[in-house]
Amino acid sequence: MKKIGIIILMVLVILVGYLAYTTITAPNLQRNIKAKLPPNLSDSAILHFQQAISFQTISYDDAKKWDSVPFIQFRHFLETTYPFVHQKLEREIISQYTLVYKWQGTNLNLAPFILMAHQDVVPIEESTRKQWTFKPFSGTIKDGYIWGRGTTDDKINLISIFESAEKLLRENYQPKRTVYFVFGHDEEIGGKQGAVKVAELFKARNIKADLIMDEGGIITREKVPGIHKPVALIGTAEKGYMSLELSVNKKGGHSSQPDKETAIDILNKALVKLRKQPFEARFTEPMQGFMQYLGPSMQFPNNMAFANPTLFKRLIVNSYEKQGAGNAMIRTTAVPTIIQAGIKDNVIPTLATAVVNFRLLPGDSASFVFNKVQEIINDKRVRIKHYDKNISEASATTPTKSVAFLRIDSIVKSSYDSVVSAPFLLIGATDSRHFTEVSDNIIKFSPMVDPIGFHGIDERVSMDSYHRSIWFFEQFLRSLKN
Ligand SMILES: [Zn+2]
Repeated sequence: MKKIGIIILMVLVILVGYLAYTTITAPNLQRNIKAKLPPNLSDSAILHFQQAISFQTISYDDAKKWDSVPFIQFRHFLETTYPFVHQKLEREIISQYTLVYKWQGTNLNLAPFILMAHQDVVPIEESTRKQWTFKPFSGTIKDGYIWGRGTTDDKINLISIFESAEKLLRENYQPKRTVYFVFGHDEEIGGKQGAVKVAELFKARNIKADLIMDEGGIITREKVPGIHKPVALIGTAEKGYMSLELSVNKKGGHSSQPDKETAIDILNKALVKLRKQPFEARFTEPMQGFMQYLGPSMQFPNNMAFANPTLFKRLIVNSYEKQGAGNAMIRTTAVPTIIQAGIKDNVIPTLATAVVNFRLLPGDSASFVFNKVQEIINDKRVRIKHYDKNISEASATTPTKSVAFLRIDSIVKSSYDSVVSAPFLLIGATDSRHFTEVSDNIIKFSPMVDPIGFHGIDERVSMDSYHRSIWFFEQFLRSLKN
């Protein structure tokens, strides 16, 4: 008995020692870079942002609603507001509205960098229009924020790039490395005419970039459990996208004498199964990087868990899956978004359909998920098919050792005080996903702090974010001189 006790004690001592050792020796990957103070934010820069918001450059799912006028007016606004950019850079217009600028560098041996942003915004949901504090396209400034549709997604990036480029061109600045700006016009509806066409063009021209930066992760405060410093979530990969339609066809009839099971019942069971049996949780490369980068900045016991993710997988998963955003980082998600059946209260419908939207974790291909859904539902009466052609696989992962990651990491740190950074798996989809053949090093990051109302009511971003965002792009462009 005593012997067993001693053995258990020894095992415990070794385990505790091991955990303490791995926690203490986990390398600190946060590079010590001091933030530089930005020059003052000019009144004209503020005005330009407000003006940019006033153009209703809306992308609609329904092509009939599309209005080209705001896009043309927005382009004219850019031409008159940023004359140096338009005199000194080469501009091409793709699919009538997407804008591509080339700022030629002096050293042709260097692979170019590409900065991306999109001109279009999502519509205002009519039923919510009255709930907006200010008119959605007013660009009102109040309480340290600029308010309006498109402020956070994605005109802050677009205008910040123009502001910084215009400033440097006025100084006669010339980069060594060529930089392209790509401003799509249909990102919110898949980028088929914009980003897709530009990527094809770049591929045909053999343009291979060392870095692409598009919208994505942000700087966030008090949202990562265990960290009190602002965290820059630098997107190194994005999840894939797919929707499936489930349908059940079963003879209906009068509701006074229902069968034991109706089409609605069968469909309902399938949906419940899908929700009850979530996809397997996994730590993908961006998630592993997230833990390695942030672990040492955390307190006990979070730092210990992040230093030993295999041992503490259950614990980490339990904590992350509680919240929608955390859950989305560790697994393929499935959620019903449309459900349809029935036309009359006393008629049992013959057909019941539902659309389920999936966001694919890197490593879970669209075909794997399709098969898995069939396996989970396991009911031949439920027909499963792709809802539409809008299917994209999860992206490849940009390594944290790449020039692209290191460059963005150092510039975000020199733009914001005491930021810690981490690679991050982006949950949404961006235009940059179409550029996988143009670059292996795609970063999805928007240099702003906790924007509010993304795609929703009262969309707004802080003036400080706008100020720092211009500063971020200025430093980024200046870094191209060597
Ligand atoms: Zn966007």
